[in-house]
Amino acid sequence: MDKNDCIFCKIVTGEIPAKVVERGDGVIAIEDVNPQAPVHILVLPEKHVANIAAHTASGTSDDVARLMRAAAKIGEKHAGGFRLVVNTGADGGQTVDHLHVHVLAGRHLSWPPG
Ligand code: AMP
Ligand code: ZN
Repeated sequence: MDKNDCIFCKIVTGEIPAKVVERGDGVIAIEDVNPQAPVHILVLPEKHVANIAAHTASGTSDDVARLMRAAAKIGEKHAGGFRLVVNTGADGGQTVDHLHVHVLAGRHLSWPPG
């Protein structure tokens, strides 16, 4: 997908509105529009990268660390625990082709996932 058509890039520029939870260090955290748990936040790099597999080719370990640390910091606020999910590709359940980490919390999350 061309990054000009990417909804998350449009959220980064403000062209599409979103509830921004926090922003900094090249990373933005927004509330998911279709929450699957009481807490469902998406953490994404401001720079367009299709997914974590594409990132291994073009990005740096520092970029991944920033993203995961930002996600973990949000998750840590929930004493009961949390889950970080990075859906990748069609079989991985990825529907938006801009790398993002789901932070899910606020209820017991079953395993295995569907
Ligand atoms: P994935 O299926 O892993 O690619 O996750 C994409 C997520 O983005 C889904 O959980 C959607 O609910 C969410 N989503 C799609 N459009 C928006 C939007 N405009 N603002 C916030 N979240 C969105
Ligand atoms: Zn994008």
